[in-house]
Amino acid sequence: MLVLENVEKWYGKHKVLNRVNEHIEKGEVVVVCGPSGSGKSTLIRTINRLEEIQGGRILVNGTDSRDQKIDINQFRSNIGFVFQQFNLFSNLTVLDNVSLAQRRVRKSTKREAEEIAEALLEKVGLGTKFRAYPHQLSGGQQQRVAIARALAMKPPVMLFDEPTSALDPEMVGEVLNVMKQLGNEGMTMVCVTHEMGFAREVADRVIFMDKGEILERSKPEVFFTSPHHPRAQKFVSDIR
Ligand code: ADP
Ligand code: MG
Repeated sequence: MLVLENVEKWYGKHKVLNRVNEHIEKGEVVVVCGPSGSGKSTLIRTINRLEEIQGGRILVNGTDSRDQKIDINQFRSNIGFVFQQFNLFSNLTVLDNVSLAQRRVRKSTKREAEEIAEALLEKVGLGTKFRAYPHQLSGGQQQRVAIARALAMKPPVMLFDEPTSALDPEMVGEVLNVMKQLGNEGMTMVCVTHEMGFAREVADRVIFMDKGEILERSKPEVFFTSPHHPRAQKFVSDIR
């Protein structure tokens, strides 16, 4: 589903991704961990070209992300992205937030788009909030809208960048539960998160990054108890 080959990313003279190689299979749930500044956000943002790469290659479901012939909006619609700061459109209702891209990119009719949006909002537990505006919702509810919005394009892969880091503690669980459900339904997911409970329950693999490199790939039960790399050991003992 996702292939990264020798991916390099520079900000000016600062190399932030150093020849990253990774294969992610259909249906896999991969958790990405690592210290702040290690390149986790940059890595997943390169996958849907929110950041351009300077070297290497990224294939998403067989499509080269830098193929000149692809339409960037069509390409991005195959990759659901959920941000730390929900990034909802504040002037649109919940239903319109979830319907908009289908109408713009997929050219769906209003009715088609709204039917899909309503079903997804029911799925994330927001069946009573169709007409609400983002500011009328809690952070946990807004993040669930953001997940529904990403799912509306029926992407074969979902990327999450610290989706629970901006939430009050009591709202973390409701967002993780939606993510767990998706993982259990077979969605291919790459999640930057330090939520150990989520990783242990749902992840097939944990990837540990430091200084722009992947230093370890382990099963979650191994990673959080006895990681192999010394820097992973330090990281795990610090977050516990
Ligand atoms: P993480 O998500 O693991 O905390 P990031 O991917 O955000 O790490 O950042 C990796 C490195 O790239 C850091 O050194 C950060 O300062 C740098 N960086 C991130 N975004 C930019 C940017 N837009 N311009 C310059 N440097 C950046
Ligand atoms: Mg980050």
